[in-house]
Amino acid sequence: MRILICGGGVAGLTLAYWLRRRGFEPVIVERAPHGRLGGYGIDFFGTGYDVATRMGIIDRLTPHQLPVDSVDFVDESGQATARLTGALLNKVIRGPHLGLMHTTLEGALLDVIQNDVEIRYGETITAVREIGTAIEIDFANDGTERFDLLVGADGIHSVTRDLVFGPETRFARHLGCHLASYPVPDRYDIGRVRAHYTEPGRQAVVYPTGQPGELIALFLFRASRAGSVPRAQRLDLLRATFDGMGWITPSLLADAPASETVFMDTMTQIVMPAWHRGRTALIGDACGCMTMVSAQGVSMAMAGAYVLAETLHAEGDHVRAFRRHQERMHAEVTRRQRNALFFARSLVPGTRAGLIAQSLVSRLVMRNAFAPVLRRQFGVGTILPPQDAAPVDVRED
Ligand SMILES: Cc1cc2nc3c(=O)[nH]c(=O)nc-3n(C[C@H](O)[C@H](O)[C@H](O)COP(=O)(O)OP(=O)(O)OC[C@H]3O[C@@H](n4cnc5c(N)ncnc54)[C@H](O)[C@@H]3O)c2cc1C
Repeated sequence: MRILICGGGVAGLTLAYWLRRRGFEPVIVERAPHGRLGGYGIDFFGTGYDVATRMGIIDRLTPHQLPVDSVDFVDESGQATARLTGALLNKVIRGPHLGLMHTTLEGALLDVIQNDVEIRYGETITAVREIGTAIEIDFANDGTERFDLLVGADGIHSVTRDLVFGPETRFARHLGCHLASYPVPDRYDIGRVRAHYTEPGRQAVVYPTGQPGELIALFLFRASRAGSVPRAQRLDLLRATFDGMGWITPSLLADAPASETVFMDTMTQIVMPAWHRGRTALIGDACGCMTMVSAQGVSMAMAGAYVLAETLHAEGDHVRAFRRHQERMHAEVTRRQRNALFFARSLVPGTRAGLIAQSLVSRLVMRNAFAPVLRRQFGVGTILPPQDAAPVDVRED
């Protein structure tokens, strides 16, 4: 069975791996001209870690662990006013955990499939038609082709979702924040920490990437409008929004690269009642984006990919498989979206009073006794049942 996967991110690459192992023939189209570079850091644990273990890639990831021992909430002089230590984080997560660059994970996933799976870079889909037992796809660059199934793994602004389910506005839940990030030279001596500095309506964050002399600067700011910001305007918007902010913020802004290379997006969840229609299914952020606040987007993207491959293999029929996949994943994603929504409200307080309250709560909560509260945000272990036996490799080659 030939399955087209639109999007070669974490969800798409994981799905391709498991489909190949179950005897299917996946083909990936990825809009980017090559595997992604740069990016941002992620906390990686729970189900994502479990799936990565089942794929045998943990050894490739561990050496690239980010050099971060604690998350510090700092004042204008850089002094920590509250601290999430590694020890507390271990109590919260209660399982293996890695801090990684998102691109490190994508690179490891790519390594294990690239000799097995056809990946067409610089390509995307422009039209989808169901014809009998096939799905016919028009590509932007290279003609038309038929497949048995289509899976949209093309992220929060999924074109697959647009083409098959309707426009993004129908499914988007804007959380009232924008985020932006880019690498900067490390000349701040921040050490092995991720440091957060907040003023009303805006927050600056820095952390080391593990590459000598490199930090990631991350900016969060309140924004009532959800639309995307044109690349050429991103830096101007950041400079205007963070003008006059304390701490090392002016110098982080002065070190910004060209506006076109700044990553910027709205903090938006994707909420959909149904993740499949006909011969098309969605996985990952395309159908269930939770935002960075949940720290579990990668995990649930990998979980969704794993479960979809498993159900397609077990059910032998895409209608039952898509339904079963949604039954297993939808409630888990919805629960994490609700938790993220709750925490997002207090992420960047809009007023000085809100900031004081946030600071007091942070100091109170960053203690062992509150590990269960924090666990509610981050979720715990894997949602997959224990593996009885290693998955059967049914590849024909
Ligand atoms: C700043 C930040 C911090 C985060 N922190 C964490 C964290 O700590 N822990 C965590 O688990 N998650 C975190 N997340 C969320 C996580 O990154 C996402 O949930 C996850 O990457 C979703 O994977 P995905 O494969 O569904 O989508 P994506 O990673 O967005 O991948 C989609 C892929 O599809 C491609 N694509 C897009 N459009 C098209 C198209 N039209 N045609 C072809 N290809 C296309 C893209 O180029 C990309 O390769 C964070 C996100 C951000 C932005």
